[in-house]
Amino acid sequence: MALFEAIPPESGRRRYRVKSPVTLESIGSFDCATDEDVKAAVMRARKAQREWARCSFEERAEALWRLVDAFVERQDEIVELVMQETGKARNEAISMEVMAPCMQIAHYAKRASRYLKTRTRRASGLMRFAKKVTLVYQPLGVVGLITPWNGPVALVANPLAQALMAGNAVVHKPSEVTPLSALLVKELTESAGLPADLYQVVQGDGETGRALVEAGVDKVSFTGSVATGRKVGEVCGRNLIPVTLELGGKDAMIVCRDADLDRAADGAVRGSFFNTGHYCCGTERVYVPESIYESFTEKVVAMTRALTQTDSVGEGDVGAVFWDKQMDIIESHMADAKAKGATVLVGGERNRSLSGYFFPPTVVVDVDHGMDLMRLETFGPIVAIQKVKDEEEALELANDSDYGLSGNIWTSDLARGARLAERLVTGSVSVNDISVTYGVAEAPFGGLKSSGVGQVNGEVGIRGYCHAHPIVTDTTKKAPGGYPYTPESAEGLRKAVKMLFGNRILRKLIV
Ligand code: NAD
Repeated sequence: MALFEAIPPESGRRRYRVKSPVTLESIGSFDCATDEDVKAAVMRARKAQREWARCSFEERAEALWRLVDAFVERQDEIVELVMQETGKARNEAISMEVMAPCMQIAHYAKRASRYLKTRTRRASGLMRFAKKVTLVYQPLGVVGLITPWNGPVALVANPLAQALMAGNAVVHKPSEVTPLSALLVKELTESAGLPADLYQVVQGDGETGRALVEAGVDKVSFTGSVATGRKVGEVCGRNLIPVTLELGGKDAMIVCRDADLDRAADGAVRGSFFNTGHYCCGTERVYVPESIYESFTEKVVAMTRALTQTDSVGEGDVGAVFWDKQMDIIESHMADAKAKGATVLVGGERNRSLSGYFFPPTVVVDVDHGMDLMRLETFGPIVAIQKVKDEEEALELANDSDYGLSGNIWTSDLARGARLAERLVTGSVSVNDISVTYGVAEAPFGGLKSSGVGQVNGEVGIRGYCHAHPIVTDTTKKAPGGYPYTPESAEGLRKAVKMLFGNRILRKLIV
């Protein structure tokens, strides 16, 4: 049964019905915005943005603090809706979809003025005698925000807070699988007093997303799969629009021989099962040296067996698979792994004793890089453990991937952890923790290789919603002149080059 299905249109627009992955009952339907609807939304947003850009940081921050209030006041409603829509566990709905957005919105409400403060400084080098540079962080205008289904509130609130604090308007195309959460976020922004057209939601499918990218927006902030990211990137490239692409991952975990094995096993379990494995920085591959392999694996198996799964909405430790398409991918990767010799220690097959879309927390060993499970993004609740000779082999295998989002290293020697972390070819790394970079606002977040383009969050991220506008002012009293060129003026320049840059001490002093 499809959880997301086309139904007959009522107004000439494509229409879809969405079902809960837990109860399999319909939770709503929506019409896709047409190209004209999307363009009209962008035009309204542009008008609202001009007003908003005139507001001070304090005024913008005040609106965002009210948005935090709205999240707190309506947290139960948010949690209930997200659990219905996604099937995630209650604790995850609270921590990821309420707590994290509160932290993110508050972070930018408090710090955006510092990140985006206008700065004036004297130029360096020879220019220091004549120029000062003022850097003004100007809003870009209208941001097209396109989001996936695995964090239907968190992955909206974070870019939204940054774009708004930077003075932009946002037109948002949420995932067609989780359309209702976006509407609730929209309600929250309105109850916080944000102008109606400053943040708009255009519901729809991939076609609607395409329409948004083509609708004349000034930047696209995209989070989703590699395949769609490539399409979005191509259109942005053609239209010369700045874009950040936050894409899929295949994060590796490296367990060093000196690691605290209880802690590392707990990390493997949390890292692989959090959000039913639908976490872009979820742990998808675990590399363990042979000397600790048996005892590490035993611990992971015992911890996994203790986890619960139920078809009561939001209850249990590991929630539902959010939609059928993802279930197909998980089942296909598992089938491929089994056919190629993998051994399943726990779980391994869809949990058909429950009515909804459930895949049990699973532990698989005897895996290798010939299997889809170790090469493609599975995005499911699976700990896949590969035995290796030592940490060097683990590192080599970890880097043997088309993806490069994040990863984690477990060791009791933190200096060694840092050294290994530097050699992991990924956008970020955690030591002795699951990959949490996205939740640490100061840490620029973004993938290498196929995992994305650009970085989001913190100072770097919010500046990505701005044009850094340098105003260079000449501070001399006399007009610089220059013409007419003469043989003497050319000779003077030639001598100046030799004098200033031919002298190794002087050239360091003047730059
Ligand atoms: P997806 O690429 O299928 O869809 C993402 C969004 O793009 C949806 O809103 C979809 O409607 C829209 N879309 C589809 N076709 C489009 C097109 N041609 N033009 C514009 N928009 C289009 O991804 P998904 O299945 O919804 O999400 C899961 C993926 O997202 C996983 O790969 C996961 O790793 C990734 N993800 C990455 C991060 C990160 O920060 N790196 C965070 C969360 C999820």
